[in-house]
Amino acid sequence: MDSLNVQLTQNFFRLSVDINQDSAKCIMEILNSRFYSTKNFPQTLDILKQSLPQIFYHQCFNDKKLSFLEEAKNTEVAHLFEHIILEYLSQSQRDKNEHLFGETNWNWYQDQPGVFKISLNFPKEKPTVLVVALEHSINLLEKILNSVTKQAAI
Ligand SMILES: [Zn+2]
Repeated sequence: MDSLNVQLTQNFFRLSVDINQDSAKCIMEILNSRFYSTKNFPQTLDILKQSLPQIFYHQCFNDKKLSFLEEAKNTEVAHLFEHIILEYLSQSQRDKNEHLFGETNWNWYQDQPGVFKISLNFPKEKPTVLVVALEHSINLLEKILNSVTKQAAI
């Protein structure tokens, strides 16, 4: 398998992922500005603590040099998604010493507003592992993005 393209549309975003031998590029188009930032989803931390607590051990290179726990309270949903994918990838990692790496960028002068680009590196993993990690990640992100809607309905 040289490369694989996965495209899907969820309620909150459209995702196109090009998967190569040891890396992947995701284009995530978030469909409503309400879903751009985790600050609109106060239950984000609780859901992560419950479902994916290891994510808080991630090293995160952000401008303010915040821990990921602090950063996760108010960051781009796409950046959170990057960390979620990396965590699911690391859980299925064969070589635990291998470092996984991700980066999230956006340039809304060049692209449509709401478009985020996530690049992932997984040097010693099979691309199929990424497909499984993506499925888990999408489920968890949907849970987070659904959390406010549910709360608002009460
Ligand atoms: Zn980060």
